[in-house]
Amino acid sequence: LVMASSHTVLMRLVASAYSIAQKAGTIVRRVIAEGDLGIVEKTSATDLQTKADRLVQMSICSSLARKFPKLTIIGEEDLPSEEVDQELIEDGQWEEILQQPCPSQYRSIKEEDLVVWVDPLDGTKEYTEGYYVIDIHFFFIGLLDNVTVLIGIAYEGKAIAGVINQPYYNYQNNEKQKLREHRNEAKAGPDAVLGRTIWGVLGLGAFGFQLKEVPAGKHIITTTRSHNSKLVTDCITAMNPDDVLRVGGAGNKIIQLVEGKASAYVFASPGCKKWDTCAPEVILHAVGGKLTDIHGNALQYNKEVKHMNSAGVLATLRNYDYYASRVPESVKNALVP
Ligand code: AMP
Ligand code: MG
Ligand code: MG
Repeated sequence: LVMASSHTVLMRLVASAYSIAQKAGTIVRRVIAEGDLGIVEKTSATDLQTKADRLVQMSICSSLARKFPKLTIIGEEDLPSEEVDQELIEDGQWEEILQQPCPSQYRSIKEEDLVVWVDPLDGTKEYTEGYYVIDIHFFFIGLLDNVTVLIGIAYEGKAIAGVINQPYYNYQNNEKQKLREHRNEAKAGPDAVLGRTIWGVLGLGAFGFQLKEVPAGKHIITTTRSHNSKLVTDCITAMNPDDVLRVGGAGNKIIQLVEGKASAYVFASPGCKKWDTCAPEVILHAVGGKLTDIHGNALQYNKEVKHMNSAGVLATLRNYDYYASRVPESVKNALVP
């Protein structure tokens, strides 16, 4: 006889966050399809908020709070507290996650001990620039897959679990497939699936992608596309990279690290916040990578912490020391933690 074991708070939360992030992905796609982004400038023209940022944050925060009322939830967007449309609430939980064992060190965690960092849409600038419309037809360009939805979970100041949804993952294959279907050349197959969800828990692993490394000896740096500065460039130049990829999104850049597209994420600048790094950091750490500020300090995620990652971000899957040892003193001196 097997005793029915009830699931831990952490695993129930991750399983819910997975379903909630999937729903978020559908909202992100729907807002584009409807064609009205409702763009608002926050602090500048490169610090934007769209209708998708607003709707997704409402969806994630309300869905989580309904199921886990004692959580601390910190979302990026400042929104008026109003009744949330029932249509935005997601109640599901991903069964595959519930079937996983909770790492022993997290089994006694209580709901009120957890802090959830929510970036409803990471890479908003790229989201607004990622498509064009001719007549009634949408054409995507290679920026929409920079967009992710980030739900990071912290305990005792440490990022321990995370979920990333990438709403436009595989959009190129998806569009080709739609064209083939349109011409009656092929039926819908696995190629047609648009979007994916990645998740991880420290001590358990990270799932939903194929771990891959950049070829040994290659130094490929990924960094900001829309928030560049002299400090960022100085730091990268000092690392003598073979190639530099300029793409949007913190979540996207961590995905590049774990999928062997880039060997280091270097952002020697303030601007990136706790909700940008919390979930991605977990995915990276769960597969043996390392994310710190530019001085090598671990990031803190307790609810009282300031939101800004003032001393930038340095992250790698392997060879962290190669990059850390090459951060110029001038760059370190300019970035106070
Ligand atoms: P990026 O690599 O430019 O996509 O930045 C990663 C994350 O940090 C995104 O959520 C950006 O919005 C945020 N970020 C970075 N720099 C800034 C900045 N100067 N102002 C506002 N947000 C920033
Ligand atoms: Mg962000
Ligand atoms: Mg955002």
